[in-house]
Amino acid sequence: MAKTIGVILSERVIAGLVVDHHLHGELCCFPANADNEYALIELHTEGLIKVICGQVLAARGPHHDISAVGVALPGLIKNGVVEEAPNLPQLKGARIAELLTAELHREGIDAPVNVVNDADGMAAGLAANQGKLDSMIRVWTLGIGIGFGRYPFAPGVWEGGHTVVTLDEKETFCGCGGRGHIEGIMGHRAMRLRFLDMEPEEVFAEAKNGNERCRKFVRMWHNALAAGTAASIHMSGPGKFFLSGFNARFLDLALLKTCLHEMVKMSPLQGYTLEIVQDNPEVRVLGAAVTAEQAITYAHNHRPEPSYR
Ligand SMILES: [Zn+2]
Repeated sequence: MAKTIGVILSERVIAGLVVDHHLHGELCCFPANADNEYALIELHTEGLIKVICGQVLAARGPHHDISAVGVALPGLIKNGVVEEAPNLPQLKGARIAELLTAELHREGIDAPVNVVNDADGMAAGLAANQGKLDSMIRVWTLGIGIGFGRYPFAPGVWEGGHTVVTLDEKETFCGCGGRGHIEGIMGHRAMRLRFLDMEPEEVFAEAKNGNERCRKFVRMWHNALAAGTAASIHMSGPGKFFLSGFNARFLDLALLKTCLHEMVKMSPLQGYTLEIVQDNPEVRVLGAAVTAEQAITYAHNHRPEPSYR
């Protein structure tokens, strides 16, 4: 029986024990209640590593035969190093895998640590939950920013949320500073910058009431997601796309399908499906653990990944 521990890092550190691709027991959280949303931002890397280690120990319980620990966090991760993490800025440049491996070793856990982007972790969790660890799964997470995750793991950069979907020179709302990106249209932060007088909730409500400016935007919002999805279909083929994140509530699936239908016309590429799924910590923890387990197998079977620089 493969026993692994998955950890996710967002507003809180949440860890869970995974046995044979299923969550086992309760999730362990720090802080224990969700009220203190700034608790992690205030921690230095060293403090954060100690917190993660503490939650891994709590999740492990009496199970001493842990084969791997997986950590999923919002950021650009390469070889266990956080290259970019806009929401946890103190982590930029941190050698998370190395630091956590050492800290766990001090606490008596000798297991390889694997760090992944949280959107990829989410895709792996959805694959495991649906018993589809043998097929390709992609997931868009619609939140403050736009995440794009894919399963199975493949070396490379998968910043799908920054796919260019418009050549309009005025489209400069993306958090990364790039022009014409999906996130610059769909991201919660970007929407607030665009509509300084209205919250995103009001924009979508006003669109239903016939407000022309809002209606146009809602159409563009769906077109942006369709364009990003179409780009992925044209590069990697059709398949299953999940839609998640707190702003999935704004999705009109019929409208999205209409937009996408206009963009993907080659018949061999039309076998794609779209499905909205709840974003929950259980799926993400499971995904982080499954990815860690697969990373060990991958490392056994492959030479080091090529550099994309
Ligand atoms: Zn961008």
